Amino acid sequence: MTTLKAVRGTRDLLPPETALWNRIEATARAVFARYNFGEIRTPIFEDTGLFARSVGEETDIVSKEMYTWEDRARAQSEKPQSLTLRPENTAGVVRAYIEHKLGETGQLQKLYYIGPQFRRERPQKGRYRQFSQIGAEVIGPPSAGSESPLRDAEVLEMLATLLDELGITGWTLEINSVGSSADRARYNEVLRAALIPVAAQMCGDCQRRAVTNPLRVLDCKVAEDQAIIDALPKIADSLDGESKDHFAAVTAALDKAEVPYTRNYRLVRGLDYYTRTTFEFTHGGLGAQNALLGGGRYDGLSEAIGGPKAPGIGFAMGEDRLVLTLLAQESAVPQVLADAYIAPLCDEKKPDVLVLVSATALFLARELRRQGLRVELGDGSFRLKKSFEAGNRTARHIVILGEDELESGILTVKDFASGIQTKVPRAELAAFLSQPSGEPAGDSTS
Ligand code: ATP
Ligand code: MG
Repeated sequence: MTTLKAVRGTRDLLPPETALWNRIEATARAVFARYNFGEIRTPIFEDTGLFARSVGEETDIVSKEMYTWEDRARAQSEKPQSLTLRPENTAGVVRAYIEHKLGETGQLQKLYYIGPQFRRERPQKGRYRQFSQIGAEVIGPPSAGSESPLRDAEVLEMLATLLDELGITGWTLEINSVGSSADRARYNEVLRAALIPVAAQMCGDCQRRAVTNPLRVLDCKVAEDQAIIDALPKIADSLDGESKDHFAAVTAALDKAEVPYTRNYRLVRGLDYYTRTTFEFTHGGLGAQNALLGGGRYDGLSEAIGGPKAPGIGFAMGEDRLVLTLLAQESAVPQVLADAYIAPLCDEKKPDVLVLVSATALFLARELRRQGLRVELGDGSFRLKKSFEAGNRTARHIVILGEDELESGILTVKDFASGIQTKVPRAELAAFLSQPSGEPAGDSTS
């Protein structure tokens, strides 16, 4: 039989690395809480139409990367429903906003999510078919101030704070404005005209995009095309006065808050729903997949999927890429050592004592664990040497629990770091084990 493996593009996350994932998520939750965001959890699959109408039919995601299937029809007369594993989470959040009439509260909704997304891309470092995003959305009726450039600046400032608190050093924020949908349409035509004389010298993808969706040409990564693209008209020149003012207010607030950024005129992002502010945080250590996160404003998204007017701004961070960046910075994730390894010990010729010592070891472990200590429970069938080896691999201390200790209530504890062995009364054990480990013996003067 062939051995089964995780499907291409998916991965198992194992300890100790999962501790890093948990730390990232805990930090994100703590930062979101300080900015007064609440958590939303939407389903992992949705009606395919949601993504077609929001992300956009012409995008790479919808045109070739989605995991889509036909659900079985409930009745013979019914058409089977087309379902899709979510490739991103903004569409689901906005669908939920509309479905639960969150706009009728009149309040700005500030929602964050953490969870898996699915795209059938070519797997490589930092690019998987199942990956995790941490994202947030600020959305609401215009009367709640949802269109304000202050919201954009606040989200960007929050991201700078979050990356700093995660310990990610050397990130870069690039921002741009793609204007209103009218500005974008105008720019698309300007680009279309400008591409006519040069498209023939460009890559095949660009030749196609020059006709179907000229804006996408700006995303091209082919080296030979870069000089041509840099010489194309800039979207900044196609923005109307309101879009220009909006963008100027965003950058003024970022300047005042001392959030560093650079303007990237080519940043148009891969999803159709963006309007006005678009942004990406990148990191040099990630190689080709250098985007840590991306986002932007989506003032028309709710209406595009049948909802009320609900401007919003949001972002999605690639959690896998945060992990890669932190691993590169910190090298290996340290294995967490338990505070104590409890070694039940007894003569193998006394099975009744073995049962008693083992049972007492479990009781002792229970007491210590309930007092908040991290405890590994050994096995009464191990000889002393084997217990010490197992203890040394997993814990800072070993606690010996043999027949003598059962009688006296005084336990023998060895601190692996210092090599010092101490007799500790049972009542003082938790306090003793909570202390930081000692220096290795003989090392104290060096
Ligand atoms: P990229 O340019 O890297 O393909 P994208 O523009 O497709 O990114 P978004 O859809 O904006 O990305 O998603 C936001 C973030 O999610 C990205 O910046 C990235 O960190 C992460 N991300 C996107 N696709 C993947 C993937 N297949 N594997 C891992 N992380 C991903
Ligand atoms: Mg992509």
